[in-house]
Amino acid sequence: MNDRDGIADLLARRGVSRRALLKYATYLATVMALPPLAARAIAQGLAKARRQSVIWLSFQECTGCTESLTRSFNPTLEDLIFDMISLDYHETLQAVSGAAAEAARLAAMRENRGKYVVVVDGSVATKDGGVYSTNAGKTNLEVLKETAEHALAVISVGTCAAFGGLPHAHPNPTGAVPVSQIITDKPVINISGCPPIAEAMAGTIAYLITFGKLPDLDHLSRPKSIFGDSIHDRCYRRPFYDKGMFAKSFDDEGARKGWCLYEVGCKGPVTYNACATLKWNGGVSFPIQSGHGCLGCSEPDFWDNGGFYRPLSSSTSHPGAVVGGAVVAGIAVGGLGALLARQRRERAVRDLEAKEQERRS
Ligand code: SF4
Repeated sequence: MNDRDGIADLLARRGVSRRALLKYATYLATVMALPPLAARAIAQGLAKARRQSVIWLSFQECTGCTESLTRSFNPTLEDLIFDMISLDYHETLQAVSGAAAEAARLAAMRENRGKYVVVVDGSVATKDGGVYSTNAGKTNLEVLKETAEHALAVISVGTCAAFGGLPHAHPNPTGAVPVSQIITDKPVINISGCPPIAEAMAGTIAYLITFGKLPDLDHLSRPKSIFGDSIHDRCYRRPFYDKGMFAKSFDDEGARKGWCLYEVGCKGPVTYNACATLKWNGGVSFPIQSGHGCLGCSEPDFWDNGGFYRPLSSSTSHPGAVVGGAVVAGIAVGGLGALLARQRRERAVRDLEAKEQERRS
């Protein structure tokens, strides 16, 4: 297989029919919330495109993002790697190691200057010059700056890369920051989640390849097609919420009957992601379907906000309590995007409180 081959050549050699490509393009159009007619454009775009060179950097993370990607069913990881992208460097998945791996990264940068996409999972350690996370004798900070310099775009996958995630949580011993705080001279797309949904990563890369531009992004630089609605907007337990039927504990009758998990701490109303529609493992399930409330993992500071088992409307878990004391620190640490997200959460919680009060009166 030649890296210079177009996707159409590769598909033809693997016996993939035009109809199968159109079916796949229809699926991607659905993931990216594009109109049905866009499926044909995606199919034509993919067929004509050359494989996108991708350099995948892993920093302070748990490998959960790669685990999620390897469980992508549409497309399978094999499809993604061999048909749509040329994964030129990925520490977990590549066969080579050491100097050969480093040489592969440098070669991909040289040969695809200005055209390759950098995918990052994990946050970037910055304290003491970034010495707390290194690879091949270089800090993550150095590798990120060097690799992103001539990239077409940067995609931060997972909440650690997008917003700092767990390494960024108090007391943040490594000075962990999100990628967007380091790379400020080119587009950074955030696909948050702990882990992110595999199809969201694949769909975003396919969109870039097909249309040669970024998808529409929200105020936190996340694709609107995936992060435009809250989990609550699409949750199948929503009718129970609307009727005021809540599980009060994880083993009561309401929980057994699948009632709403709001009162046992679900953060679905203030969390924006497509978990309730795309789900995981080929659409099998997602946390709420498995009986656990949403933790809010695709929003900034989800770990520090905590209160996972306290209802949003209780005063102890009210994000406003956190925000009130940390507005200034929030601007300094999380940036304007994180502050806006907190304000949006505050507004959503205020609306919920008003509804709750109305329901109870
Ligand atoms: S509060 Fe949670 S469980 Fe209840 S409807 Fe909203 S997202 Fe679903």
